[in-house]
Amino acid sequence: MKAMVLKALKAPLELEERPIPVATHDEILLKVKACAVCRTDLHIIDGEVPATLPLIPGHQIIGEVIELGSSSNRFQLGDRVGLPWLGHTCGKCAFCRSGAENLCDKAIFTGLDRSGGFAEYCTAKEDFSFPLPDGYPDDAQAAPLLCAGMIGYRAYRMAEGAERLGLYGFGASAHLLIQLACYEGKECFVFTRPGDEKTQKVAREMGAIWAGDSTTTAPELLDAALIFAPVGPLIPEALKAVRKGGSVISAGIHMSDIPSFPYKHLFGERIIRSVANLTRRDGEEFLALAPKVPIAVQVKYGGPRILDN
Ligand SMILES: [Zn+2]
Ligand SMILES: [Zn+2]
Repeated sequence: MKAMVLKALKAPLELEERPIPVATHDEILLKVKACAVCRTDLHIIDGEVPATLPLIPGHQIIGEVIELGSSSNRFQLGDRVGLPWLGHTCGKCAFCRSGAENLCDKAIFTGLDRSGGFAEYCTAKEDFSFPLPDGYPDDAQAAPLLCAGMIGYRAYRMAEGAERLGLYGFGASAHLLIQLACYEGKECFVFTRPGDEKTQKVAREMGAIWAGDSTTTAPELLDAALIFAPVGPLIPEALKAVRKGGSVISAGIHMSDIPSFPYKHLFGERIIRSVANLTRRDGEEFLALAPKVPIAVQVKYGGPRILDN
């Protein structure tokens, strides 16, 4: 098969011929139909998320089941499934037993600890693969639901109860989550890189009641802020924007250092927390909600063209 392989950090992926992997035990073999690029893939390539090389990245995968492992019985040949970042967990540790498998110390991640989807084929554990909802027949449009959507959704759920919601960074995750937030009746305030009026306009068109530079303050105090840009200085900025008792939630796997800030910005029982990975439950809940909204996915094409060459 053709695969795009990361052989050295900060270098472009290289096209390589590899044997088609074999599904063993509870695995399925997929013919990859689409694999979206996540910011995490770029963090891996840049060495900001430690990885063992060589590696096939890619963890927002849509594929067709073409082979079943010996004990695999969840899917049928020909089924269309999605693979997310979470590739496997131990199922036994305190995290796994308490519904926090996203924190499992033995978790295996797709496109990091096992080969990902920037290839013509890949295998997956059947229990960590998702049946796809109706309403997303286009493979490329379905792919971003698998991480931008699912992990964005986990961050969004941490702001449960917030009526005024700030979104810092308006890219893959935020453009999906704003649709869910508006559907659930929240007021969304979008913060972009200073001067990015084009994105601010898109955010308003998608339902934001206000959009502006991340260095400015919104017209109202926020109940919670979700940070999707991997930019540490946004944490103190967002703290200033949330009310007493409000939360600042960072959704990314990597962030530049957070600068020091006056304690008064945290005081008032404000909360800073991070989001790590996803649970299968996050994924199931999100895929059930997405077609109800319905969440529309905007896609820029690139990868498949590289593979076809
Ligand atoms: Zn991702
Ligand atoms: Zn575990």
